[in-house]
Amino acid sequence: MSSILQSATTAPGRFGPYGGRYVPETLMVPLFELERAYEEAKSDPKFQAQLQDLLKNFAGRPTPLQFASRLTEKLGGLRIYLKREDLLHTGAHKINNAIGQGLLAKKMGKPRIVAETGAGQHGVASATVAAHLGLDCVVYMGTEDMARQALNVSRMRMLGAQVVGVDSGSRTLKDAINEAMRDWVTNVRSTHYLLGSVLGAHPYPTMVRDFQSVIGREAREQILAAEKRLPTHLFACVGGGSNAIGLFHQFLRDAEVKMIGIEAGGRGGQLGEHAARLAAHQGFTGARPGVLQGTYTYVLQNEDGQIAATHSISAGLDYPAIGPEHAWLADQHRAEYSAVSDQAALDAARLLSRTEGIIPALESAHAIAGLIERIPKMSKADLVILNLSGRGDKDMDTYSRLL
Ligand SMILES: *Cc1c(COP(=O)(O)O)cnc(C)c1O
Repeated sequence: MSSILQSATTAPGRFGPYGGRYVPETLMVPLFELERAYEEAKSDPKFQAQLQDLLKNFAGRPTPLQFASRLTEKLGGLRIYLKREDLLHTGAHKINNAIGQGLLAKKMGKPRIVAETGAGQHGVASATVAAHLGLDCVVYMGTEDMARQALNVSRMRMLGAQVVGVDSGSRTLKDAINEAMRDWVTNVRSTHYLLGSVLGAHPYPTMVRDFQSVIGREAREQILAAEKRLPTHLFACVGGGSNAIGLFHQFLRDAEVKMIGIEAGGRGGQLGEHAARLAAHQGFTGARPGVLQGTYTYVLQNEDGQIAATHSISAGLDYPAIGPEHAWLADQHRAEYSAVSDQAALDAARLLSRTEGIIPALESAHAIAGLIERIPKMSKADLVILNLSGRGDKDMDTYSRLL
């Protein structure tokens, strides 16, 4: 165990062989500047006080750790707790990171932020924080996603952000990230790039993880207070991997706590039909280590190394790469990853709605489906914390069409 933690901390930005900083020369200076500002902020009492104040009074932390009594009963009796990130302002965990980076932008004296968004959740969180802190905000979004997530586009505009449609490639998240990076390169003096997950070049994967680790710090205290013992299993969905690592990180040293990340299995194992980067053991093909958007990690690609098309019913999980720390945790067998289908996620969303009175985001529904599929291999004495990363309002069109 300690070897993981050591190698993860001795080489900055590296998780074993993964991570790093693969960017054009022009981005090295702003990345160093960001790294320095972040390192300073960690021990700056004024910054930390502002962060805590916004997390508490603006975003609504701490979030509850709710015992899911009817779900527990329905699934055979092993005790299940939900970490209720869906109750945060703007409806998902994304605001934890947006607040942290928004404050950093201010600290660096940058009056403008750019962000990418897929489903629109990160765009809304960024636009929200920008408005609250008085920053200009430009959000890049694939035109395909803009059509699918019109409500979030309206929200961002209401908040004063400029939403720029991206018409290249598959017109989804990956293309939006490319455009946001292009904008950042051109405007580095005035602009901070507010990246939404544990992806991209160093320091992003480490910094975003740290901002999201509040989830696991709270959950650890809350479960010890409620059950007087640590959980046996943690479950979280994994797009880029920020809500999952946010929950997992505080438990990494507790070797008895199993961590399970759930990816998007989409319509099946063939390349193009899924977004499962670490589930080759289940027959999901096409993932190999490679570089995408500044970081070395598992990437879905064809035999020539071209980035593959992906599919998931859930826009937030529909991305060809995974955060580099997850790649390392998988290699080390410290965390396990498996994928569930679109259909399993839909069924799980309905089950949670009707047993607990909580309509989950489609992303979070994948975590529930992952738990359901694993139940036969678990024991009644097991104790689960499942990260409910977001609420389902944004997915109501999909739910009403398909259920
Ligand atoms: C964006 C999003 C995700 C996926 O992103 P991660 O970085 O993997 O957490 C999961 N759940 C919700 C509700 C989201 O909005």
